[in-house]
Amino acid sequence: MQKFDPHTILRPELAELSAYAPHAGQFEIRLDANEAPPFLSALAKKKLTDAAAKIDYRLYPDAAQRELRQAIAKAAGVSPANVCAGVGSDELISILLTVATRVKSRAPNPTLLTTTPTFVMYRLSARVRGQRVMEVPLDEHWDLDLEAMKRAAEIAEPNVIFIATPNNPTGNMVSKDRLLALIESAPNSLVVVDEAYIDYAETTHLELLKKYENVAILRTLSKVGFAGLRVGWLLGQKSLVSEIEKARLPYNLPTHSQVLATLALNDLKDEIDAMTRSVVKERERMQTAVSSLSSVEAHPSQANFLWLGMDRPVESIFQGLMKHGILVRSFHGRGGRLERCLRVTVGTPEQNNRFLDAFRNVL
Ligand SMILES: *Cc1c(COP(=O)(O)O)cnc(C)c1O
Repeated sequence: MQKFDPHTILRPELAELSAYAPHAGQFEIRLDANEAPPFLSALAKKKLTDAAAKIDYRLYPDAAQRELRQAIAKAAGVSPANVCAGVGSDELISILLTVATRVKSRAPNPTLLTTTPTFVMYRLSARVRGQRVMEVPLDEHWDLDLEAMKRAAEIAEPNVIFIATPNNPTGNMVSKDRLLALIESAPNSLVVVDEAYIDYAETTHLELLKKYENVAILRTLSKVGFAGLRVGWLLGQKSLVSEIEKARLPYNLPTHSQVLATLALNDLKDEIDAMTRSVVKERERMQTAVSSLSSVEAHPSQANFLWLGMDRPVESIFQGLMKHGILVRSFHGRGGRLERCLRVTVGTPEQNNRFLDAFRNVL
């Protein structure tokens, strides 16, 4: 057989990366991926089934995503020309990093600036494209370290700055005054405010779009009950959207994703809102329950998960929970201050009770 080593043609950065792999295995209760609990009514399910049954799979999807963009625009109070929809917000992150690749005077490679810890796809998408990644640690309250961020932006001249708020995995929103100061101090960078969890939070940053041309907002249906559809979107100024549309694959979003996401945004809004309200209630209940445990610090969360700081490395707690059939997200492999942290998705009341019992037991 003729030999060929793929490494000879591949980007060297790939050698330092691993493929994103969710924890494998069967668990009775999965509280590791920030998915929503089951909530759709029989009527809502019927609407989804009926809409899916009408799709003509012979035809390509709508390349212009007309109805979906209309529904997204209406919900956000912007024009469809301000919207670009993708295969999850993950795809918008990669499209942005594909096109925002200017080399600046002080940065030999196109550079991305973000925080740590934060959503891993920013780093992964950037490294796969050979971009340099600057990660500035969050402060001791998991908030933006404004001075360090400003200095990093000045030195690295990033094309894009990603700020997740509420942040994953820490659950908190960054302080608004710090976010505004960062946006104002980096007028030559696009600041992408990732609002994946905004439906569980008290406020949004939508109004920033009106005030700052260098702001874009990312949103997704994944955390509110439709992770399987893979639909996310970017909101930004028209001149940005029309350019990134050139890099979006014309048929990126399958017809069923477009149709069902449009239905979710238009017709299922009340059910989604009721679900997010009940998850927030459950989050507060769990927060109170874990706060009574002396070895646990439950950080304030504005997302659909808890961020728990423990008085010891969490590996044995993580494994003890698995023995009870419960999978949560542990960061012990990352070391440093993350070694003592667990991220726990808020599930159904029954799942949450099972978690609380198992957690007390393991501690
Ligand atoms: C889950 C998550 C996303 C990804 O969402 P998809 O739309 O499923 O690709 C984006 N940002 C953050 C911060 C997330 O936690």
